[in-house]
Amino acid sequence: MNIHEYQAKALLRSYGIPVSDGRFVTRAEDAKTAAGELDGPLWVVKAQIHAGGRGKGHFLEAEAGEKGGVRLARSVAEAAEFTRQMLGRTLVTLQTGPQGKQVNRIYIEDGSDIAREFYLALLIDRSTSRISIVCSTEGGMSIEEVAHNTPEKILSISVDPAAGFSEYHGRRVAFALGLSGGQVKQCVGIVKNLYRLFVEKDMDMLEINPFVVLKDGGLKLLDAKMSFDGNAMFRHPEIAALRDETEEDAKELAASKFDLNYIALDGEIGCMVNGAGLAMATMDIIKLYGAEPANFLDVGGGATKEKVTEAFKIITSDPNVKGILVNIFGGIMRCDIIAEGVIAAVKEVGLKVPLVVRLEGTNVELGKDIIRNSGLNVIAADNLSDAAKKIVKAVKG
Ligand code: GDP
Ligand code: MG
Repeated sequence: MNIHEYQAKALLRSYGIPVSDGRFVTRAEDAKTAAGELDGPLWVVKAQIHAGGRGKGHFLEAEAGEKGGVRLARSVAEAAEFTRQMLGRTLVTLQTGPQGKQVNRIYIEDGSDIAREFYLALLIDRSTSRISIVCSTEGGMSIEEVAHNTPEKILSISVDPAAGFSEYHGRRVAFALGLSGGQVKQCVGIVKNLYRLFVEKDMDMLEINPFVVLKDGGLKLLDAKMSFDGNAMFRHPEIAALRDETEEDAKELAASKFDLNYIALDGEIGCMVNGAGLAMATMDIIKLYGAEPANFLDVGGGATKEKVTEAFKIITSDPNVKGILVNIFGGIMRCDIIAEGVIAAVKEVGLKVPLVVRLEGTNVELGKDIIRNSGLNVIAADNLSDAAKKIVKAVKG
């Protein structure tokens, strides 16, 4: 689960980590008062969307145009004007995709005088099963290029979970960033608190870019992206409350309401499968035969007819879907339930694309009978590769 920058900064502040003072607004008419509460003489007006690259982004609408989603204002009036220009507009960045994201919230910050910009992140490194602290002197808006062209400029420090964080890790970060004197101590304190926050809140990613040295020599975090382990959210109601559903994929949101494990993807073949492993295998085999899956979906073992119907509706609501593959190996899940769900859904939403169904396992004959007698135009398949070949052929010809 992701949260907005202004929410992340509130969390950082509560852990004693230095961030700028700021106010968040959702209405243009509140901007003047909000900016007026900050000291100036510089204000930063920041579009709040769950995507990075805002500074280098552009708006689809003419007035806000090419100016980007992070703008420096020299007066309260200018800060208010930038807020008005950005609110309600669609911001396109490298991370939003070409369709962009609508800006519904603005964070106005007290501007900082930056001397140097660094990169600092904490993340879960799956290859070592440890938290890694990643840092680079080449922070700012081009970190992706640094990673691509000069990866040696990025340092990764692995923390042994048994021993935990020690000041030594923080000092390695400070020295890698070329800090000296009192900055080293401040850096150690910041990294220590970031690590504590990361662990205590069950984060899976925390990215600070830029982590800056101010002109007066102090250190500060000017941007923050946080992502939390969705499976741990039951332990953190205060974090779960920060969820902004307008930032989420509508199909994934609908799926989560019905407790379906659904992930939207870019391909053309919608998949309805039971079991995460079989769902992965189904996506692989679709690719093997030359097409791309439109989603991952595990309907689970104990799915009801209603749940299957909802799943089918979500799949067909995706305009990219040119064909659907239902692949069920009935163990706990009964094939007749799936068949009934599919038919109920088709009756409700119609079927405008080819549908291949492969059923195997518990009550398979019953399930096949239900589909055969439904009068629907369903292509039956005998096994996984037969099913994949048939749906790819139906879609691609
Ligand atoms: P991103 O583009 O989505 O990563 O948004 P950031 O919050 O990182 O802002 C983009 C850039 O704006 C930063 O890399 C800074 O160069 C600049 N910026 C952000 N805050 C300030 C500030 O307080 N003062 C100044 N001078 N520049 C800032
Ligand atoms: Mg940034």
